[in-house]
Amino acid sequence: MAFRDIIGQDMAINILLRTIQRGRLPSSYLFIGESGIGKKFTAINLAKAVNCLNPPIPPLEKGGEGGFDQGRYGGMNEYSLFTDCCDECPSCKKINAGVHPDFLLISPEGGQIRIEEIRAVNDILSFKPFEGRNKVVIADEADTMNPFAANAFLKTLEEPPKDSLIILISSNPDRLPDTIRSRCSKVNFTPLSHEACRKVIKISSQKYSKKTSEVLSTLVRLSMGRPGLAIAGNLIEDRAWFIKLLKGMLNVEKDGWTSKEEMERWFDILLILFRDMAIIKITQDETNLINIDFKDYLNKLSSSIDLKVIIENYQKINILMRYFKFNLNRSLTWNYTASLLRKTMDVKYA
Ligand SMILES: [Zn+2]
Repeated sequence: MAFRDIIGQDMAINILLRTIQRGRLPSSYLFIGESGIGKKFTAINLAKAVNCLNPPIPPLEKGGEGGFDQGRYGGMNEYSLFTDCCDECPSCKKINAGVHPDFLLISPEGGQIRIEEIRAVNDILSFKPFEGRNKVVIADEADTMNPFAANAFLKTLEEPPKDSLIILISSNPDRLPDTIRSRCSKVNFTPLSHEACRKVIKISSQKYSKKTSEVLSTLVRLSMGRPGLAIAGNLIEDRAWFIKLLKGMLNVEKDGWTSKEEMERWFDILLILFRDMAIIKITQDETNLINIDFKDYLNKLSSSIDLKVIIENYQKINILMRYFKFNLNRSLTWNYTASLLRKTMDVKYA
């Protein structure tokens, strides 16, 4: 895969390509946007592009508005004009396989990026590139760095080694310290359109290739422009799991989440449920529902609740979710939410 294969992120990719072509690649990027929309995929392809041994060279555009002005590129070399990677040379293949000596991708383990991983980052950045032109480090879910890790990482960002590129990825950039955020060039990624989302799910996921178009449509709706979520997991099973726990919650059962990640995922689905319930109340137009295949369930569930209460609950849950970054106690969060929902939802419809 290469930049040319990325669907639905033209704006972000054009920003990156323009920066590369102007020879102004910053030492650190922060890729911002929701989960499952192509940030990591783009970051890996950027790592490939800045190290590719056989990059496709675009035809030269001369001067003009927005055009390529050769005169400004005194220091350019044979690679300066690349706009993509070849995806076939040894460098591209090694990065794809995660074995390139100048490339490192770190991600949280047990919900956190720890200082040990930042030390590995500093190790790789402290040497000259072994075989590539640039050393590239990607920190996925960078906002999960614990304070020690963030502190150590800040020092690296303050004095970036030559020929290095650091790409932080985050769907919750406000959870990153200001000191880190302010040192990175930001690139925003947006959720995909329905068509783009359908295309990505169809192309990327073997497991859905034999599904009916009805199932595919459900997945496109449930992913809400984030096809990566449909590819990595099973959104239809996730929803069944959500409803099982909702019933348990309304039936005064105890905390059903086994991790913080599960809890956050459950609340994401709860907000979608409120959204759909509000749409039923406001428009009665079922075609706008995310959970259109569950319209009967939603109709019953919302039958005894006023729109005002649905909106109030949505707002309260939204505020609660802002506190997730402070590691809320799961059991207390469960009980608080249960008491909130039990006042308004009838368990017999859940
Ligand atoms: Zn290549």
